[in-house]
Amino acid sequence: MSIGLPAEEYGKLRQRVFTTIWNELDPLEKQIEDTEKIPYDVVMPALRECGAFGLIVPREYGGSGLSISQYLPILAEFAKIQGGIRALIHVHNSFAHALSEIGNEQQKQSILPGAAVGEKSLAFALTEPGNGTGMDLSTSARRDGSDYVINGRKWLITNSDFASHFLVLAKTAEKEVSAIIVERDAPGLTIKPLPETMGCKGGQHGELTFTDVRAPATGLVGAEGEGIDHLERALEISRVFIAASSLGTATYALDLSLKYAKERVTFNKPIAERQAIQRYLAEMATDVYALRGMLADVAGKWDRERRVPAESSLVKQFGLEAVGRVTDRALLVHGGIGYTRKYPIERLYRDARLNWLEEGPPTIQYMVAARELLAGYQFDDAFDAVPQ
Ligand SMILES: Cc1cc2nc3c(=O)[nH]c(=O)nc-3n(C[C@H](O)[C@H](O)[C@H](O)COP(=O)(O)OP(=O)(O)OC[C@H]3O[C@@H](n4cnc5c(N)ncnc54)[C@H](O)[C@@H]3O)c2cc1C
Repeated sequence: MSIGLPAEEYGKLRQRVFTTIWNELDPLEKQIEDTEKIPYDVVMPALRECGAFGLIVPREYGGSGLSISQYLPILAEFAKIQGGIRALIHVHNSFAHALSEIGNEQQKQSILPGAAVGEKSLAFALTEPGNGTGMDLSTSARRDGSDYVINGRKWLITNSDFASHFLVLAKTAEKEVSAIIVERDAPGLTIKPLPETMGCKGGQHGELTFTDVRAPATGLVGAEGEGIDHLERALEISRVFIAASSLGTATYALDLSLKYAKERVTFNKPIAERQAIQRYLAEMATDVYALRGMLADVAGKWDRERRVPAESSLVKQFGLEAVGRVTDRALLVHGGIGYTRKYPIERLYRDARLNWLEEGPPTIQYMVAARELLAGYQFDDAFDAVPQ
């Protein structure tokens, strides 16, 4: 059972991060959208100072050790402001958290205390330009003495411009995928930026080329051939984090739409008084409310040490559909001016579209959820406990 931080301490930490989000990071939005670059010299110290890098690193490694129920509202708040910063913090925290669950003691000791204070960061290198994900990967890791020799290419790797380590998924045999931690400065590893993104601008999602990269075998996570299991374990909760990002974006789009509907007057009445607009607002609120409920359920289960293999894909998928509908309607409530950069609606719209892709596209979510359900997965259902 993960109870996270005591309530008073959590309240203070949350307030500190929210203050940083709105007072220090949100004002950078225009600069980042204009330049398509995150000013790391300002953003990194601000994130370090408020403790954002250690939120879900366990306390014994110097982090705050938040429960998932405590972390999700903070991540959702990041998703209201500039999306490149949200993506940066999501990937950092998600893979620090994954390492705390799947890494061995030596791996945790060498990375997590640095990660907790934003001096080290583990990026996730799975996706490849020439192959599909999972057993189709072509990156290879051949054991040679006390090293692995890695060859292959990865792309779209978030935080590739500053990560100190990469968790690389590679084939150690024909039908065997393994997870290996590789240091950024390993000889033979080259990192190139990819073109700018549609939304969540400013971060770098680069291309990694491994040419006979020698990585110490001590970086192997678990045993050879356990890579897919570790991947599924890491993505199970990381998909929930994407759904929380959808919730943050959708909540902000709804709040902005409620405000705008009361201010915008046509034919002598605020548009908020028109039934057509009220319907949009009610539909947006339905999506937000439903997503909040799903997230509370899945986070509670995880904190009670339950696995959530079906729920995580279902909430990830519902979240992206919900934020898709909400940002569509927010644009309609705002009319033409919403399509301009006068309001954050057009940015939220673009930022949200990354949620379709991070931690696997919809076809994967359908496949994972259906596989679990067909194998007899049962929801641990709160309704079962209600006396009849
Ligand atoms: C901004 C950004 C950041 C990212 N960050 C990371 C990161 O940090 N680390 C990382 O490893 N990856 C990262 N990714 C990659 C992301 O996870 C993938 O883009 C996503 O999972 C889709 O994989 P793909 O691009 O290879 O698409 P493809 O596999 O080429 O898929 C294209 C389409 O075909 C469908 N498809 C593919 N194969 C099948 C199949 N077998 N059956 C049915 N349908 C199929 C897909 O659903 C999709 O609709 C990032 C992507 C973006 C855009």
